[in-house]
Order: sequence, then structure tokens, then C-alpha cells
Amino acid sequence: MDVSAPLSLVTDDAFREIFQSMSEGILMVDESGKIVIANPIGEQIFGYDKNELTGVMLENLLPERFRGRHVNFRKGFNEHPEPRRMGFGRDLTALRKNGVEFPVEISLSYTKVQGKLLVMAFISDISQRKKAEDALKRSEEQLIIYAAELEKKVQSRTEALHKTIQKLENEVTERKRAEEEARGALEKERELNELKTKFVSIASHEFRTPLSAVLSSASLINQYNERGEKDKVDKHVQRIKSSVNHLTSILNDFLSLGKLEEGVIDINKDSLKLRDFIDSIREEMSPLLKQGQQLAVEFDSETEIYSDARILRNILFNLISNASKYSPEQKTILLKFEKRNGAFILSVQDEGIGIPEEDQKHLFDRFFRASNSGNVQGTGLGLNIVKRYAELLGGIITFQSNSGKGSIFTVTVPI
Ligand code: ADP
Repeated sequence: MDVSAPLSLVTDDAFREIFQSMSEGILMVDESGKIVIANPIGEQIFGYDKNELTGVMLENLLPERFRGRHVNFRKGFNEHPEPRRMGFGRDLTALRKNGVEFPVEISLSYTKVQGKLLVMAFISDISQRKKAEDALKRSEEQLIIYAAELEKKVQSRTEALHKTIQKLENEVTERKRAEEEARGALEKERELNELKTKFVSIASHEFRTPLSAVLSSASLINQYNERGEKDKVDKHVQRIKSSVNHLTSILNDFLSLGKLEEGVIDINKDSLKLRDFIDSIREEMSPLLKQGQQLAVEFDSETEIYSDARILRNILFNLISNASKYSPEQKTILLKFEKRNGAFILSVQDEGIGIPEEDQKHLFDRFFRASNSGNVQGTGLGLNIVKRYAELLGGIITFQSNSGKGSIFTVTVPI
């Protein structure tokens, strides 16, 4: 093989120096694809001895699978030679003498010597760089996996934390609720005790008058009986009755209040013929009215309602006895019953002493008595009870009153 011409290329000392000492491998290849000369690095890269590459077909330095394609590529280059990088953007693989493949980077150039094309390939073994790149890629991938795992961990920890917080919050709420319940129970207990204490003091005060009235009437009845004074006997029998009624109503109020406080009142709704209901109220209340007082009733006798008769009776009982107590003798008490828009409206109107305006806002407070109640007996409990009964039925109580002229109390309950 004639290598003198290409070698003559490198006869120039400076050029030889460069050729020999280049850190890249240089292969010079003729048009047929035979290696004309390789510099020491080129030989070293491919694992060949000195001058051993000279005359070797370039394709021998490629893995077999690329060789066919490379021949075409080489021909194409020979037809339009121009300096450029080879395989830009993709990995190039070369083959060492010992059969080991390795990654390379190649730039191509050419020259013409005595009219013949001589292709120069500048080759770098990029195994180390590739390794480093791969390692970097792997560690990047690892990093991404770690990051994802970390994110997952953070997420699951956050969830666990949320759960713990939620649990704690629930516990706190539960504890607060229990505390409130206990406090409520305690408060109720305290109120009940207060009520009992007040009851004892009111009872001892309120009971004294009717009891002594009963006692004196009883002994007077004895005397009038002996003397045959029937009118006076009747009067004292009446006095005894009303005293007993008053005592009963006080006891009833306390009983109702106790039950309301304990929340043990059941609501038993049933259909109710208004006429029967009113008749029984009239019958029960009329004997308790003052001399000459009478009950006037306005209602539609065909009306039927669906409600709790016992609670309605207690409401009416209280309102009618107030109307009687706080009105003079001979006055009429007007009861009105009406069914309107899905509600039952009852009102009790009197022509009594009325309620002073400044007292009106306290009227439903427990133990409250208006400033004009004077020596009319009472405990200040009735209206509080009536209000709570009305509310128990899902209703309300209102009133209008003019001091000295009378009052009207209205209860509206859904039916
Ligand atoms: P009491 O046992 O004192 O009658 P209530 O709770 O029934 O208790 O009534 C509270 C106060 O409201 C009464 O003390 C009285 O001053 C006033 N009151 C209630 N009803 C009437 C009424 N129809 N006319 C005038 N004042 C009334």
C-alpha cells in the first residue's frame, strides 16, 4: 500500500507534531474506506498497535450492525464532502479491537492530496463522559424517585397529622360538650334547688292566708250552723272552697314547673272537639270565679283541632284564673277560640286592673308580680308556666294591656 503521499502530509514537523500529540484520535481514510493512517491516540482508542490500523477498512471499527449503513453514508460523504460533526444529536458507537463497543464523538473533515479525496475523522472516546452523564441521569432519576417518595411520605404524614388533629379536635369538642352538659346539669340542679328554696318560703307565706281562712271559716260555719244562718254558712263554705282552690293552684304551678324543669312533660296530641273541651273548662272554672263574674265564649261549635288537651287546659286554667283574680266582681271574662291558617288561636280577655307599662316586659319572668298586684294572692309563676307550655306545643303567647282597663292574653299554637 502506498502510504507515502498521505505520510508526506505529516512530514512537515509542525504538522507531525500536532498530528501526533492531538488529544483526539485522528483517522485518515481514502475514498475506498481504507484507513491510510491513524495518530497514536486513534490507535490507542481502538486498541490497536502502532501502524496496525493502516490499511484496515474503516467499517471494521464499527459494530457489525452499523457497517452496511456506514458504507452508504461514507459514499454520500465522498460525493459531497464538507467538514461537519457526525451523528449530531444521537449516540455513535465504535468497536475496539477486543470487540468491546464504546461511545464516540466524531467530526469529519477532508482534504485532497494529489487530486484524491482524503477524509479525516476526529474521534473522541466519550466513555468516561457518557458514564458520568449516565450516572448523572441515574442520580437525577433517583432524585426524582426520591422526590416522589418524599412527596408521598409528606402527604401520608400530613394526612396522619390531619387525622390526629381532627381526632384531637373531636376530643376537645366532645370534652367541651361533656363539660357544657355537666355545667348545664349543674345549673339546672342549682335552679331547681333555688326553686325549692323559693317554694318553701312562698308556700309558707302563701299557704298561711288561705289556711287561716279555712280555719276561721270552719269555726264560723259551726257557729252560724247552730244559729241557723244558712246564708253565712254558704258564704264561708264558698270561702273555704276558694282557699282550697288557691292552694291547689299553687301546688299545681309548682308541680308543673318542676316537670317543665326536668323536661319530663310528654306531648299527647289527639283530635279534640272544641265544644266538649270548652264545656269542660267552663264547668271546671265557673265555680272558681268571683261573685258575679262570668265566662263568655266565642267559638265555632263545629271546630275540631289536633292538639294536647291537658296542656291547653293548663294554659286556659292559668289565664282564666288570672283574669278572674285581677278583675273586680261582676265582670265578664271573654274567651275566644279560632282556627286560622293552620293555627289554633285562643284568647282570654278581662276588664280588670291591667298591667302597668313598665312591668310588661318582665311579665313572663319567673316569680315576677306587677307593681299593682297589691294583696291579690299569687306566686308570679303562672304566666312563666303558660309561656313554656305554649312553647312546648310550638306556639307563642302575647298580650295587650291597659292599666286600669283590662288585658287580653293570646296563645297561638300550630295544629
Ligand atoms: P301570679 O301568681 O302572681 O298571678 P302570674 O305569673 O300568673 O303570677 O302573673 C304574673 C303577674 O302578672 C301577676 O302577679 C300580675 O301582676 C300580672 N298579671 C297576670 N295576669 C294578669 C291579668 N289578667 N290582669 C292584670 N295583671 C295580670
